[in-house]
Amino acid sequence: MGSDAVYVDESIAFDRFVSERLLQGALMVQECRACTGTWHPPSGRCPLCGSANWEWREASVQGELYSFTIVHHAPSASFKEHVPYIIGWVELEGSARVLGCIVGVSDAIRVGQRVWLATPDETFPYVVPTFCLSREEAGTK
Ligand SMILES: [Zn+2]
Repeated sequence: MGSDAVYVDESIAFDRFVSERLLQGALMVQECRACTGTWHPPSGRCPLCGSANWEWREASVQGELYSFTIVHHAPSASFKEHVPYIIGWVELEGSARVLGCIVGVSDAIRVGQRVWLATPDETFPYVVPTFCLSREEAGTK
């Protein structure tokens, strides 16, 4: 390996690509060409069959809340100003089940509720898929 060789950690490149697209209003998932499974967050191989033959796909901006929890204790100092916040699994229409933040919840939240992809909160320590409970608030398609 020459001194000018650059080691590229694909997970960092994947994270950067997915984060940039999220900030533009698109949630990218990966779809396996071998088994048609879809997944997020990104990885080099299909978590279902192990194939490295996959492609990027823009996921639906709508989904259903599969499960959620309310985080009251910050896992680190950088989350302190954000608690309490809601983390939930969202079953995207025709696509992967994705972990993300649920925002704009005034009172009741329940499993099975309809959610829409929203613009991520850029003050959150990570750019994560972010969903809200109304299409108007999401401001997406
Ligand atoms: Zn697969």
